[in-house]
Amino acid sequence: MTIPFIDLRQVNMRFKTAFQNDFKILQNSGRYIMGESLSAFEEEFAAFCGTKHTIGVGNGLDALTLIFESYIQLGRLKTGDKILVPAHTYMASIMAIIKAGLVPVLVEPNIDTFNIDFNDMRAKMMPQVKAVMAVHMYGFLVDTQALKSFCRDNNLICIEDAAQAHGAMTAYGERAGSIGAAAGFSFYPTKNLGALGDGGAVTTNDDELAKMIRQLRDYGRINRDESVVFGVNSRLDDIQASFLSTKLKVLDDDNGLRRAVANRYIREIQSPFVATPTYSGDLDHVWHIFAIRSAHRNILIDHLKNHGIAAMVHYPIPPHRQKALSPFIESELPVSDNISQTQISLPISPVMTDDQVSMVINAVNAFRV
Ligand SMILES: *Cc1c(COP(=O)(O)O)cnc(C)c1O
Repeated sequence: MTIPFIDLRQVNMRFKTAFQNDFKILQNSGRYIMGESLSAFEEEFAAFCGTKHTIGVGNGLDALTLIFESYIQLGRLKTGDKILVPAHTYMASIMAIIKAGLVPVLVEPNIDTFNIDFNDMRAKMMPQVKAVMAVHMYGFLVDTQALKSFCRDNNLICIEDAAQAHGAMTAYGERAGSIGAAAGFSFYPTKNLGALGDGGAVTTNDDELAKMIRQLRDYGRINRDESVVFGVNSRLDDIQASFLSTKLKVLDDDNGLRRAVANRYIREIQSPFVATPTYSGDLDHVWHIFAIRSAHRNILIDHLKNHGIAAMVHYPIPPHRQKALSPFIESELPVSDNISQTQISLPISPVMTDDQVSMVINAVNAFRV
């Protein structure tokens, strides 16, 4: 492939000297878990997102799961409560709800924005629903004003799955992670803020929730020897935290580079065979994924492959069709099915060159059925 979907080596080699220095400091510190690099990153990421707390955890799935488990521990949710969640998301969003003993209610996406459809959400509202998990799909913030009023009107806890939206900002200056009562992030290597391994975090302004998550991520301990709630071992390694601190400094710039690629795709892709996003421009999209749709999805992917371009699908099997989830979900979700059959993700990253972007645009525009 001449143009990979994302060149992670190149993404991270930009920080070669800084990472070597991070490693030296960490190795020399003699403390590798729950040390100073972790607390430093937690403070920096909280300040970046505009929240009081960040709690580093092992991965994005755990971040989301621990949010729900904490609400249960605090008596603000109870086993069996229903949670509204978009059907068009990565399966982790839905697995987190089920793992915590709650019941997902899948809501259709809007076909143009790929984000949760508020009309379908209203239609699926029922008394047992106690929370919404909003996913900022592909890096595009959910309509935050609509989300907040929906949650306020129905007395629901608002939780964000911000795993694809690090740094996205509303017109009111709020960052992803500061919009709901709590948010889960993933630092999986391909994410906009990616570690060199697994990682995740919860952000929140809620002192009680933050304290509970700090306990749950570490065996439910309140000190070295005493465990007071049934927790897990899901801590963010200090080495990953220090790499993340280094990369956080350029996250806004990196998102700007992604935005530049996206804006060129939107302007220059002109093809009767594909639909590009109707959305363009502002800070509320950080383009984790650049998604187009085509009725000829599979042959378009082959066509791109023949031009040396690696396109992907997010996601070919939607959560409601995953075997692992089939005991928990029974819904007809035609819009989600439609997206899983027509969606294509074009290469996008902060290290793509203008020439590479042009090659992708030309290849898409040259596609004929
Ligand atoms: C990546 C991702 C997650 C899970 O992150 P992991 O760190 O891989 O567990 C959750 N939700 C969404 C929307 C994601 O894209």
